[in-house]
Amino acid sequence: MALSRDEAAALDAADPLASFRARFVLGDEQRIYLDGNSLGRLPVATRDRLRDLVEEWGERLVSGWPDWIDAPARVGDLLAEGVLGARPGEVIVSDSTTVNLYKLCAAALELGAGALVTDTGNFPTDRYVLEGLAAQRGAELRIVDDVERALPGAAVVVLSHVDYRSGELADMERLTAAAREHGARVVWDLSHSAGAVPVELRAAGVELAVGCTYKYLNAGPGAPAYLYVARELQDRLRSPIQGWFGQRDQFAMERAYDPVEGIGRFLAGTPPVIDLAAVEEGVRLTVEAGVGRLREKSVALCELIVALHDAWLVPLGFSLGSPRDPAVRGSHVSIRHPEGWQICQALIRAEVIPDFREPDFIRLGVAPLYTRHVDIWDALDRLRGLVERGEQRRYEAARSRVT
Ligand SMILES: *Cc1c(COP(=O)(O)O)cnc(C)c1O
Repeated sequence: MALSRDEAAALDAADPLASFRARFVLGDEQRIYLDGNSLGRLPVATRDRLRDLVEEWGERLVSGWPDWIDAPARVGDLLAEGVLGARPGEVIVSDSTTVNLYKLCAAALELGAGALVTDTGNFPTDRYVLEGLAAQRGAELRIVDDVERALPGAAVVVLSHVDYRSGELADMERLTAAAREHGARVVWDLSHSAGAVPVELRAAGVELAVGCTYKYLNAGPGAPAYLYVARELQDRLRSPIQGWFGQRDQFAMERAYDPVEGIGRFLAGTPPVIDLAAVEEGVRLTVEAGVGRLREKSVALCELIVALHDAWLVPLGFSLGSPRDPAVRGSHVSIRHPEGWQICQALIRAEVIPDFREPDFIRLGVAPLYTRHVDIWDALDRLRGLVERGEQRRYEAARSRVT
């Protein structure tokens, strides 16, 4: 593993994805951005497309709808085939991850009563959605450390493919099968995996999934999320949000609610056309690069973080907060330190952008489309320097609102 900067630069020179970096708006060469797992960079193609689309809106007004209205399904199909290992007609882009999770969990719960289960480490919004649903439906809620032991009597299980804190990658196929043996359905949250980690929904036997587009898929702040329902299950599920965009003969207007066949029944209201264009461009870039190559590069970059952490940071009191084995790790590496919050502040001052997760996790996200080996080397070099000099002590231990 490369420990000299020259060796890191040589790996970049041999990187088959190197040219993708220039497809993003950069203009900040001093800044090392290691937070693409929270909000991805802006692709040049997206900036140009959005400018054009805003012009188009101004010119076409309501006559634009025939060209805009199918975007949720069209972009969903691109995601399905190019990123998620699903078939056309199994993915739709709509709403936020949180709302989609609610829709799928509520619909799955209608198929059979039982407990709602998730793990204590899951992303907060996933736990909140289940808490609310349990209260509304009078269902039992189990938030546990060991999901597999909580499967008997479960109806719906919510799991993250990649743990947002530790980066641990779950065994999707095995856990889906284990839940099915108990008659439970898993809703997978792909927010921290799709676009950087291979996802093969059909091959893994997955029936239900949701995920966001503004992390590794680079679709921008507030871009809509997606949901996946395996074809076999679609017509047995009903969305708890009965909206006109999921209605048969939508523009006939005066009919009683009668949802369309297929994934479209999970649409609720008018799609965010401008944001959908951003999702489409982001997904196109990912598809062009190929998830297999993205994964290879992501693993190489994460391994470099681990190697430099061991060599430089362990003597400074750091420990690894992520699995050591790349086979069970997503596309970020968390490192831990008792002064983690202050170190994050000092790092941002040094123009390295990580993020922080309680209680002491500094997340270093690797977005393989635009992160280079030298970025990792320089970021960890700046980090060791500032901790050696004790610069973190200039910052308060109190937290700010957005971390
Ligand atoms: C980022 C993320 C979300 C985001 O949910 P929003 O509704 O888009 O705010 C949800 N779940 C997980 C696991 C995430 O990482």
